[in-house]
Amino acid sequence: MTSALTPRWAIDTERETDGALAQTLTLFLVGAKCPFRCVYCDLGDAMIDGATPVGSLPNQIRLGIAAAQADCHTIKLYNASNLFEKRALPSVDDATIAQLVSGYERIVVECHPRLIGERMERFADALLGTLEVAMGLETVHPDALPQLQKAMTLSDYDRAAGRIDKHGCTHRAFVLIGAPFVPPEASLEWTVKTASYAAGRGARVISLIPLRPRVGSTVPMFAPSLAEVEQALERSLQVAPEAVVQVDPWGLSRLSACPSCSQARQERIVHMNLSGAVEPPVRCPRCAENQ
Ligand code: SF4
Ligand SMILES: [Zn+2]
Repeated sequence: MTSALTPRWAIDTERETDGALAQTLTLFLVGAKCPFRCVYCDLGDAMIDGATPVGSLPNQIRLGIAAAQADCHTIKLYNASNLFEKRALPSVDDATIAQLVSGYERIVVECHPRLIGERMERFADALLGTLEVAMGLETVHPDALPQLQKAMTLSDYDRAAGRIDKHGCTHRAFVLIGAPFVPPEASLEWTVKTASYAAGRGARVISLIPLRPRVGSTVPMFAPSLAEVEQALERSLQVAPEAVVQVDPWGLSRLSACPSCSQARQERIVHMNLSGAVEPPVRCPRCAENQ
């Protein structure tokens, strides 16, 4: 039995490494919960118990592409889990999915570094476009990373990045702004170090994700302010000039900021995402943040 659910979708513009702008369709697919239990992650809340039924993700992808009706360069198949894990996607569906996305030049999927292997390589071989694997690096802070319960070491990330690159694919790194267990006063410094680390492992894109504190968690978590996000982006752009460094644009309006300049700060972040350059700071008569 297969699901006939049209997934949520979004269309964004992303900068390419050569500065060109590309339209990107993201499909938010619903399937099996991720088997990992990262302390900050709430993505599993919207997922299903049990394995993803055969045919469900191909159906969602078909419906999502039809609903968006957009001529995009890139498609992101985000399943809040790991596309190359058998409970998340039955392997009999791989070929159908490869066919469904044949109109896109880049296909971005999510996967934990420890699940990068032969299946990823076979999937990449079946695509007409280029596979890009998005992996959570989160933070390279040596005490914080193990406490995130991500079941990943930096060696796991390095090995996965090397294997992806060797197979002619690319990767993007997710980096947290405000990672739990990183001392708040050192948070900016470690975000920048983590972006620099990802760039050193060949990440084509570095997506900075403002922490979304998990409701009900006993782990202390704090969302960064918009001004802190601006600083993280400015500094990360400078340490990773070869990569496309950007802030995840979804949910910026939820971050705390002075009401007079919140809109201007969000727009500044979006402009920096697209230009790859540090833009003039926001001058606000009501607050002194970032001036
Ligand atoms: S591996 Fe990714 S999707 Fe899975 S729990 Fe961790 S952050 Fe969430
Ligand atoms: Zn202000």
